[in-house]
Amino acid sequence: TLPSYIVGNWKMNGSAADVVVLQAIADAAAAHPDIEIGICPPATLIGSFAAAAGAVRIGAQDCHARASGAHTGNLSAAMIREAGATYSIIGHSERRADQGETDADVAAKAEALHAAGMGAILCVGETLDERDSGNAIAIVTAQLSASLPASASGDWLSVAYEPVWAIGTGRVPVSEDIAAMHAALRATLIEKLGEAGNGVRILYGGSVNPGNAAEILGIADVGGALVGGASLKAETFLPIIEAAP
Ligand code: 13P
Repeated sequence: TLPSYIVGNWKMNGSAADVVVLQAIADAAAAHPDIEIGICPPATLIGSFAAAAGAVRIGAQDCHARASGAHTGNLSAAMIREAGATYSIIGHSERRADQGETDADVAAKAEALHAAGMGAILCVGETLDERDSGNAIAIVTAQLSASLPASASGDWLSVAYEPVWAIGTGRVPVSEDIAAMHAALRATLIEKLGEAGNGVRILYGGSVNPGNAAEILGIADVGGALVGGASLKAETFLPIIEAAP
């Protein structure tokens, strides 16, 4: 089985002084070579963080699908790569909501990252209304099917299941629901990618904290975690790393 993959998404938080947090995470990465650890800081910090990252993989939180052109304020895959990122989160629910990103946009971003020699963490997840409708599995697997580039493989792509209602709320699905969703996403990956679908890690994200990490990371087909708030401080991120199997 693949090593656990624990990634911190700092969202629109952090400043240059927080390199001390990264350094503490880098020390943990050195002590846990069996676990893959990533931090996705705001784009302004990618360069300075990459220089101090040690074994921590530095990623971006988004990239544009085009290689260059008239797209004011956006960054291409090659640009974030040059800054020091080796992968990017794509399709986060906050961007799907705030920037109106569609599944097709997300698939194009994945292709752009792959073409630039980078990795991707592709996010999917249902809203609370969708969960309450009883159709979450059908909705989220359809979202993955439509967002997944045809060329995908676990060498460069991971999937993150992030229920929108669990993000930043302290609410987490019961383990049976996480297991059922991850099994369904695995089946979708195999349906779309064949045998390669077995090699794609599926991370869980949404209110992961030191108290629930061991249980969540122990669920079948949970290959790691995408951590928001608890990744901003070493005191809360390091215990999550230590909880990884
Ligand atoms: P929280 O861990 O703060 O709930 O955020 C999860 C998330 O959105 C990670 O991408």
